[in-house]
Formats: sequence, C-alpha cells, structure tokens
Amino acid sequence: MAHPWIAERMEHFDSSGIRKVFDLAAAMTDPINLSIGQPDFAVPAAVQEAAVKAIHENKNGYSPTQGIGALREKLQARVQAQYAHTMRDVFVTSGTSGGLVLALLALVNPGDEVIVFDPYFVMYKSLVGLTGGTCVLVDTYPDFRIDLDRVAAAMTKRTKAILFNSPANPTGATASDEEVRGLARLAAERNIALISDEIYSLFHYDRPFVSPAAYNPQTLVIDGFSKSYGMTGWRLGFAHGPRDIIQQMIKLQQYTFVCAPQPMQWAGIAALDVDMQPHIDDYRRKRDLILAGLSEDYEVTRPGGAFYVFPKAPWGTADQFVHKAIENRLLIIPGNIFSRQDTHFRISYAASDATIGRGLEVLRKLARERP
Ligand code: PMP
Repeated sequence: MAHPWIAERMEHFDSSGIRKVFDLAAAMTDPINLSIGQPDFAVPAAVQEAAVKAIHENKNGYSPTQGIGALREKLQARVQAQYAHTMRDVFVTSGTSGGLVLALLALVNPGDEVIVFDPYFVMYKSLVGLTGGTCVLVDTYPDFRIDLDRVAAAMTKRTKAILFNSPANPTGATASDEEVRGLARLAAERNIALISDEIYSLFHYDRPFVSPAAYNPQTLVIDGFSKSYGMTGWRLGFAHGPRDIIQQMIKLQQYTFVCAPQPMQWAGIAALDVDMQPHIDDYRRKRDLILAGLSEDYEVTRPGGAFYVFPKAPWGTADQFVHKAIENRLLIIPGNIFSRQDTHFRISYAASDATIGRGLEVLRKLARERP
C-alpha cells in the first residue's frame, strides 16, 4: 500500500526496471557490465586539478545562480561563435538533468503535449508527467530515423514542445542533417518549442555534429559536461536559448537547485580546454568492435554516436532475453525501460575491450541458444 502522504505526481516515476539491473550488478561477483551510461575514462588530470585547486582556495560556497562569470563567459563566447544569434543566452545548470527539469517546468503547462521520440531517454516521460503535460510518442523503429511526416501528424493544438536527442540514448542514433533541418523548420513553422538535449554531441563518430539551433534560432539547447569529460557525479551542465526563456529557467533554478556545485564550475573552465579527441576516437573504435561482434547474430542498426547499441533481441521479449543474459552474468538493459516496445535491448560499450569481448561472447552464445 502506498503511503497516504504521497502525491499523485509520483505515479509518473517508475525506476523499478533500471534499478533492478543495478541492484543485480551490486550483488554479483565479477559481472560483465555493459549497462552503464557513463564513460569508463577518468576525468582528465587538468580538470581534476582545477577542482582540487578550487576546493583548496575555498571556492566552496554558493555561486551566482546563473553560474560563475568566468565559465558563463567562456560558454557564451563559444555559443556566440557557433550561432551568432543576438538573443541567445547561456547559463550553468546542475547537470543536464537539472537543465531538462528547468526547461520543462518553464515551458509546459498542465494539459500540454510534448512530442518525444520512441525509444526515448528514461527521464523524459517522467519529467513531462511532472509538469502535468502528456508525452506524445513518435515511433522511430526499426532504424531510429525521424520521420517528419509522423512528427507533423502527431502535432495538435495542444502541442507545446518537441524533445529531441541526438546522438540518442538508448539507440546511439544520430539524426541526419536533413532530419535536423526538417525538425527545426517544422517547429518554427508551428511555433512549437524545440528542446535539444545535446549531452552526447562530442560523441559523434562519422560526420560533424549539427544542432537544430543552426536552423532554428529559437531552439533551446540543454548540454553538459557529464559524458564529455567523464564527470557524471560532478553535476555540471549548461543551457542556451532565447534570452526570455533562459531568464525564466534561471529564476526557477534560484528556488530549486540554487546553483551548480561551485568547485566543479571552476573545473568546467579547465575542461573546455581539454582535447577529448583521443577518447572519442577510442569510442568510435569500440563502436566498430561491438558492431562487428554482433553483426552475424543480431539485427542491429549502426549507431553514429553516444556509446550505446540497441540491437533486437534474437528471441523472446527483450525482458526475457535480458533475464537470460543476467543469468549469464551479463548486464544489459531491456528496451521496455525506454520504449513502448519490449523488443530491443541497450548495450553500453563505455567499457574496457576485455569486458566488451566477454560480453560479445555471451551474446553470441545466447543468440544461438534459442530456447
Ligand atoms: N540526457 C541524456 C540523453 C542522458 O543520457 C543523460 C544521462 N544518462 C542525461 C541527459 C543526464 O545527464 P546529467 O548527468 O548531465 O544530468
């Protein structure tokens, strides 16, 4: 029985599925863990040193809500150089998650509809629910491409926003230039907010990353340092978009997160000068390694970015297949956590080559052992 004090909005949050996998991981000795959504490389030394230095220099108090000036100015200069939009402002958030929470609370009214692509990042559905809005799912199976006709067909008078994520979690799909431009135009034509979650933009392997902000100056971009620099626990993100919206988000941040952790903001300044290309090249190689290992036994769409692959379960539902994998000590995530469908599963290849190799061995064995 639920406790009588618990608010109805909590019904929008169900973390039982993904938590089950993490609990199993904690209980297992020597699991083959391909379930983790964070890089396996260390925070670059210069960035660690900048954080330690800030702590020793007692930069441990609150920062301005919008972030320390030095970091904000550096981010603003980058964004300005990229887009040259006159009214585009930047501020520092408490992780990309923090930015998403503020964006949705600032934009979505109860009863509004938000278009989300299925499969989607787990948090999206719950956050839209938190605002009292409704998620309208647009299917992207089997190849995770964005069909603009489907997007247009999903729009109603109540559509308030489109929540877009490329490279995507859980599929690793990267939208083509044509898809990005089309989506940007459609949002502009219908005067619908376009929220672009660009947390994986650095992990873009086959061609340059392109943001819908390049085609639609009203795009609200939510970005962060978690994945790019392997600092998921440091809770540092940023958002940029139309000045009026950013002002509202800063106002909300003041009464919720207050600010991003100050020492990590100083470290963020150092991070922006670090060349992560060797890590990106390494992850591209891991992507190719895992694709080559799966190709004979699995139906799998080649991912262009992030560090995920989303193959189809070779038999049974994805949930049944993942159970079998876990019995073999392989931790992967069933697709029904990210989707209406229970047909695919997520592999994270942010792991050592040895772990990827062991995982592939189990996956090949399971595909051939159809029950
Ligand atoms: N967006 C996506 C698509 C993600 O995969 C994640 C992390 N798994 C986040 C946002 C949240 O990132 P952060 O750690 O910066 O809050």
